[in-house]
Amino acid sequence: MKPFGYVRAASVEEATEAFAAHPGARYLGGGTNLVDLMKLGVERPAVLVDVSRLPLDVVEELPDGSLRVGAAVRNSDLAAHPMARDRYPALSQALLAGASGQLRNAATTGGNLLQRTRCPYFQDVSKPCNKREPGSGCGARDGVHRDHAVLGHSERCVATHPSDMAVALAALDARVELYGEQGARSVPAAAFHRLPGQHPERDTEIRPGELITSVVLPAATAGLPSAYRKARDRASYAFALASVAVVLRVSDGVVAHAGIAFGALAHRPWRAQRAEEALLGGPATPDAFARAVDLELAAAEPLRDNGYKVPLARNIAVDVLTRLAPAAAT
Ligand SMILES: Cc1cc2nc3c(=O)[nH]c(=O)nc-3n(C[C@H](O)[C@H](O)[C@H](O)COP(=O)(O)OP(=O)(O)OC[C@H]3O[C@@H](n4cnc5c(N)ncnc54)[C@H](O)[C@@H]3O)c2cc1C
Ligand code: SF4
Repeated sequence: MKPFGYVRAASVEEATEAFAAHPGARYLGGGTNLVDLMKLGVERPAVLVDVSRLPLDVVEELPDGSLRVGAAVRNSDLAAHPMARDRYPALSQALLAGASGQLRNAATTGGNLLQRTRCPYFQDVSKPCNKREPGSGCGARDGVHRDHAVLGHSERCVATHPSDMAVALAALDARVELYGEQGARSVPAAAFHRLPGQHPERDTEIRPGELITSVVLPAATAGLPSAYRKARDRASYAFALASVAVVLRVSDGVVAHAGIAFGALAHRPWRAQRAEEALLGGPATPDAFARAVDLELAAAEPLRDNGYKVPLARNIAVDVLTRLAPAAAT
């Protein structure tokens, strides 16, 4: 591993200043992804700015009823937090579906959002990969791509985003709060990650040096029935092959709110806007759910070896919607 410096920041301002002062710096959360990538030679930071002990390790209710989750809150703590479990069950379920107990104890909310793809070509510096080395090609497109994207991919990159938590945040209309040289701003979680297009080296809309300070879950989706379902090769300790987060409210038999996001199908959590629009104002029946999900997944363009993801995603989404519907009725 290349030698690197280490700075522990005590405040948000100190962290962003330290980042700006050290070319080639990287923020360090729990280190469960970044340090692995350093060992593989994929990441070669000059300096690590440790943000895991910033005073951002708090989950707090805001006056408007929304919930702010600090970027340094550990995945285990957030999954077990009573307000997350009671008000946003999809979030708690998604966190518990990810990684292992030990990893969740170390992993932070900010680091989870910014974890890199698990594409094996990205992780192997001897292979071509436009995300790791722009212009070098995409080994996965015609190579091993069973786990890769079926929606929104490009000639340059067919990788998927690996976070379970991010899928729930997208469906729950959360926002990501950021702080950088130009001050504070926030971005909808569903728009935080990017599609690859011509620039797969950019995973998200974050600007250089910006720090994730927190994630805010809105009052509007607090307490709505929600659920997360993940299909994977093993029952635990495996990334998703397809996953879905659903937030649903049904009034007088009619869908009054639908938030649906798919995981492991695209370079970002895939907010299923077409399906949501098709459902709103219509009956909350299995047939209607199936029609809406089919409409969304009609845009899928599977690669040679991952066509199985389309029916898999369809079936879990229709099943989750159907099972949530009775609880979602008011
Ligand atoms: C064996 C294994 C299995 C796993 N399985 C799953 C799974 O099934 N589902 C799943 O979702 N995840 C899974 N993971 C990934 C795991 O969830 C992530 O490694 C973890 O969430 C990353 O969080 P961290 O705090 O350790 O991030 P780090 O490794 O510290 O950082 C990750 C990235 O985020 C940046 N960063 C960290 N904090 C901030 C901040 N506040 N602001 C700006 N940038 C920041 C870092 O610079 C780095 O680029 C698995 C990991 C392993 C090793
Ligand atoms: S899919 Fe993306 S991450 Fe994987 S090899 Fe191709 S360019 Fe790299």
